[in-house]
Amino acid sequence: MAPADVQQTILSESRDEILQRHRTTRDEVLSESDSQLYIGGEWVQGASGETFETRDPTTQEVVGTAQAGNAEDVDRAVEAAREAYRSSFSGAAPSDRQSLLNDLADCLEANMDPLAKLVTLENGKPINEARFGVLGAADHLRYFAGLARNVTGETLQSGPSNHVEVVREPYGVVGQIIPWNFPILMAAWKLGPALAAGNCIVLKPAEQTPLSILEFVRRAEDVLPDGVLNVVTGFGADAGAPISRHPGIRKVAFTGSVETGRKVMNGAAENITDITLELGGKSPVVVYPDADLGTAVQTVIMAIFMNTGENCTAGSRLFLHEAIREEFLEAFAEAASGMTVGDPLLEETQIGPKVTEAQLDRTLEYLEYAEESGGEFVLGGHRLDDGGLSEGNFVLPTVITGLDNRNRCAQEEIFGPVEVVMEWSDYDEMIREANDVDYGLAAGVITEDLDQAHRTARDLEAGTVWVNTYNEIPAGQPFGGYKQSGIGRECSEETLYHYTRTKTIHVGNID
Ligand code: NAP
Ligand code: MG
Repeated sequence: MAPADVQQTILSESRDEILQRHRTTRDEVLSESDSQLYIGGEWVQGASGETFETRDPTTQEVVGTAQAGNAEDVDRAVEAAREAYRSSFSGAAPSDRQSLLNDLADCLEANMDPLAKLVTLENGKPINEARFGVLGAADHLRYFAGLARNVTGETLQSGPSNHVEVVREPYGVVGQIIPWNFPILMAAWKLGPALAAGNCIVLKPAEQTPLSILEFVRRAEDVLPDGVLNVVTGFGADAGAPISRHPGIRKVAFTGSVETGRKVMNGAAENITDITLELGGKSPVVVYPDADLGTAVQTVIMAIFMNTGENCTAGSRLFLHEAIREEFLEAFAEAASGMTVGDPLLEETQIGPKVTEAQLDRTLEYLEYAEESGGEFVLGGHRLDDGGLSEGNFVLPTVITGLDNRNRCAQEEIFGPVEVVMEWSDYDEMIREANDVDYGLAAGVITEDLDQAHRTARDLEAGTVWVNTYNEIPAGQPFGGYKQSGIGRECSEETLYHYTRTKTIHVGNID
C-alpha cells in the first residue's frame, strides 16, 4: 500500500481563526503572564533575574514567561521546605495530609477547564486528553489521600522480652523533576505519594510547560500550607541539577529521558540520595492471528497515537503475526488516517502538534533516517506543511514497515506519532526480538487466548504488560520500568514507601 492511497483527516481552518481562538483562550485561563517562583508560600523573583518564554506549539506565539531559576533559588526553596517540615508539616496528622490531598484534588476538578486549556496551549495536546489528564491527576491525589491514613510499621519479637519496632518516617524534604508530556498528571503522580508520606517538596517543572504547574499552584494556594510545596522553574542544568545534588534533599524523583536520568543519578550519588527514575520506553505490542481485528486495531491506535505519541509507554514497536499482517495494516491505516489532525483546542481533534520545534525536528530526523534505511511509509511520514496549521509542529500519524528490529527507529524513543511495524511467525524469535531493546517500561499483547496472553506477558521484559488494552494506569496499579526504563514504581502503595525510610527501634528488657 502506498501512502498516496490514504488521505489523513485534517481540520482545515485559516491561521487567523486559530490565532484568535488561542489568544482569547490564553487571556481567559492564564492569570499571570509573567510568572514568578513559588517559594515558602510567596511569589518571588529568581536570583538571576532572567526569564524564559514558553511557546504555543500550534501557533508559535508566546504563552507567557517564567523565571529561569538557578542553584541559589533551589537553596532558598530547600530552606523553605525544611522550615515548613520542621515547624509544622512533620507534625501534620495523617488526617491533615489526607485533607490536603483531597483539597488539591477538589481544586483540580474545580479548575479542570482552565487548567486543561492551559496545558493544551503550552503542550499542544488535544483538549480532551488534557481534561482527562487533569481529572486523572485529581483521582491519583485522592488515591494517595487514602494511603496517607495507612502509613504503618511493624513490630517483631526478639528474644523472650525484647521487641523491635520498625517505624516509617518521611525524608523531610524531597526533590521532584518532571517532564512536559503530561504536566499536571506527572506532578500529581509525584506530589501525591510525597505529601501522603509527610514530605515537603521542591518541584521543577519542564521548561516547556511551567505555566500549567504554576497556574495549578496559584489556584491551590489557599489550601497549600506555606513551604510544603515549592516550585522552581528553569532549565535542567541550572534548576534541575542543583535539586539532584542538594545535600538538604534526601530523595529525588525524576521522569524524563534516560540521558538526563543518568545525570540525575550521578548528581544524587554525590550525597548518596535515594532516587526513583521513570525513563521512558520503546514498548512492543504483539498481535496474535486470533485477535479480533477491530479490537486489535483500536488497541494499537490507542497504544501509539495517544498524546500524539509523546508518551513514555507508547507502543511504538508493533509485532504483527504474518498471517494477519496485510489485513491488519489495511484496517490500521484506514483507522489512523481517520484520526482528526487539527487545532488541539477543538473538541474533535485527536492529533495535535509536537511540543516544540526541537521535538518536531527530532521526529522528522527519525523519519528521514527510516526512509534512508529502506523503510516504507504505509501512512504519513512527514509534517503538515499547508493550511492554517502549517506553522504548528504537526507530524502526521505515521506507520513504517520494512525496518529491522536493530534499526534506530525500532530501538530509540521517537516520542512522536510513529509506529514501526515488524512481522513475526516463530514465538521464541518474536520474544527475543521484542526484548532486544534497552528499555522495558511497558508492552502489549492482543489475543483472545488467555493462556497465550499470560505466557507472553510473563516472557516480555517490561514493568507493565497490557492485555487487549493499552495505556491504562488507574491509581493503585504499580507503574515503572525494567532495564533502562527506570527504578521504582509510581501510582501505588509501593510508591508511598519510596517516600519513606524505615527506622528500627530495638527495645531491650529493663529488668
Ligand atoms: P529531559 O531532558 O529528560 O527532561 C525532563 C526533565 O529533566 C525536565 O524538567 C528537564 O528540564 C530536567 N533536566 C534536564 N537536564 C537536567 C539535569 N542535568 N539535571 C536535572 N534535571 C534536568 O527530556 P526532554 O529534553 O524534555 O525530552 C527529551 C526526550 O526525553 C524525549 O524526546 C523523550 O524521548 C524523552 N522523554 C521521556 C519522558 C517520559 O515520560 N519518560 C518525558 C519527556 C521526555 P528542562 O525542561 O529545562 O530540560
Ligand atoms: Mg501562601
